[in-house]
Amino acid sequence: MKASKMLIATLKEAPNEAIIASHILLIRAGMIRKLVSGVYNYLPLGLRTLNKVEAIIREEMDNAGSLEILSSAMQPKEFWEESGRWQKYGPELIRFKDRNDREFCLGPTHEEIFTDLVRNEIKSRKSLPINLYQIQTKYRDELRPRFGLMRGREFIMKDAYSFDVDEEGLAKSYDIMYKAYERIFTRLNINYKIVLADTGAIGGSGSHQFMAVSDVGESDIIYCECGYAADQEKASSKPNELEKEELKDLQKIATPNQKTIEELEKFLNVNANKIIKAVSYVDTTNNQVVVVLVRGDREVNEIKVVNKLNIAEHELRFARNDEIINVGSIDGFIGPVNLKNVRLLVDEEVTLLSNAVCGSNEKDYHLINVNYNRDFTGEVGEFRKTVANDICPVCGRKLKLERGIEVGQIFKLGTKYSKPMHCNYQDDSGKEQPMVMGCYGIGVTRTLSSIIEQHHDEFGIKWPLNVAPYHAVIVPINYDDENMKKGSDYLYEKLKEAKVEVILDDRDAKPGFKFKDWELIGIPYIITVGRRANEDICEFKVRETMIKEELPFDEAANIVIEAVRNIK
Ligand code: ATP
Ligand code: MG
Repeated sequence: MKASKMLIATLKEAPNEAIIASHILLIRAGMIRKLVSGVYNYLPLGLRTLNKVEAIIREEMDNAGSLEILSSAMQPKEFWEESGRWQKYGPELIRFKDRNDREFCLGPTHEEIFTDLVRNEIKSRKSLPINLYQIQTKYRDELRPRFGLMRGREFIMKDAYSFDVDEEGLAKSYDIMYKAYERIFTRLNINYKIVLADTGAIGGSGSHQFMAVSDVGESDIIYCECGYAADQEKASSKPNELEKEELKDLQKIATPNQKTIEELEKFLNVNANKIIKAVSYVDTTNNQVVVVLVRGDREVNEIKVVNKLNIAEHELRFARNDEIINVGSIDGFIGPVNLKNVRLLVDEEVTLLSNAVCGSNEKDYHLINVNYNRDFTGEVGEFRKTVANDICPVCGRKLKLERGIEVGQIFKLGTKYSKPMHCNYQDDSGKEQPMVMGCYGIGVTRTLSSIIEQHHDEFGIKWPLNVAPYHAVIVPINYDDENMKKGSDYLYEKLKEAKVEVILDDRDAKPGFKFKDWELIGIPYIITVGRRANEDICEFKVRETMIKEELPFDEAANIVIEAVRNIK
């Protein structure tokens, strides 16, 4: 490709809203352009890379025996009502009506559609298992679209769905996908961790997330040397137990204006870990005030709370002061003793405290020497957020924390969709049985961004060869010079012939300007044809390392040809 014929849309600066490297570099390298918040156009260089990422995913999915289809983004409401998600999904779902008032959504995911497809097309157990996938555009009206392609309102996902006759079959299908994902992310040069995950609104019995390790990731990974790794929402720890004390008598004491944990710590001279923190919510589905107790040095894990309540995340909100007063308490002084008309969820660490401090449900008073079982009871579970240095639930060592970008997630769905949607097969006795499903997603465009997060430097992107928009670029210092033109054309033709995707920078511009462009765009091999062109010598630079050396034309060309031939 001649650079003069390309759309090279590089920029010196990215807009202020771009704060992470991948967002800045995708814009500056002229790969994407924003249309509206969270929605992007892909320019030629961006699309070439996207296509290569997709090709790798496609190849591995095909090899794993999954069959590609393509579904529509437009999904009729009926299917979502069958699965019960039309209500549950919340404001991220983009809903609209056609001219006949029929309701639709733009698919944020495709469980319903694939379940419908399979229930119509597959009747016999002989056709099972089957695994179908697509690479397709998804829509989610994210509260805060951000970081370029990382969190878009429109994005490309590879989603796959497996259908088996039983749990054992599902376990096999799941394992095949797990291994395919390992190959995909390895081939995409992603440094990743696999973690146990919460099943969230999609539901089901087991799940793993594939996390690209990165400080700009929005997921917290809790992990241990023993191999335990979980998303922070899902992560568990052994409860931390303080030394037991002899129980003292419950006592009410004046604590004027001492509402926060910090204020109480000072005022009563106690450690936060002996204060019971009460956080009040409303379960909007059941119209019920829910008070969650954790130790004062802990935060509530709201995902564990919504799972306990069996509601969706958006169905839980903080309680307002009037709602707290309605249940006989007051903001800042909420406590579990004699608290009625609420659902009380007690973190297990709270039950291990002796002589703790808590609110009295009366303004300006707290209770001291509060003890679980003696003074209050509730529904006990793990409702605290696991943090670094907590104790590993598997081996007892200290847990560590790292940030990651969720690039993929796989779920064992079981019969969550097949049962309500009657996606059945006939068993040997002729009885209808629900198929046992799994679903498997990769954020294709988020993965593309993650590659940049892990492969860039101060000059720009350092594309791995197998996803680079082009493999090599030839930069003549002066294309009007006869020797330089001849040398550049020779290299260009030689590389093209060997199926190398090569650019010849024939633009009328200063060499420094050209180099900046190619380094920013991240072309893996940059070959300069300059003053030694008459000796058939060029300057050969590897973008990854920025190391350059002078090499004879053919030697330089052969390095590139060989590398491209070895692409995996
Ligand atoms: P997140 O927790 O980041 O919102 P999710 O768990 O809701 O993601 P899934 O439903 O598991 O996402 O979707 C499968 C994959 O699609 C995710 O692993 C992620 O890589 C990608 N993805 C999800 N939401 C977005 C988005 N708004 N923009 C880009 N990619 C996304
Ligand atoms: Mg997910």
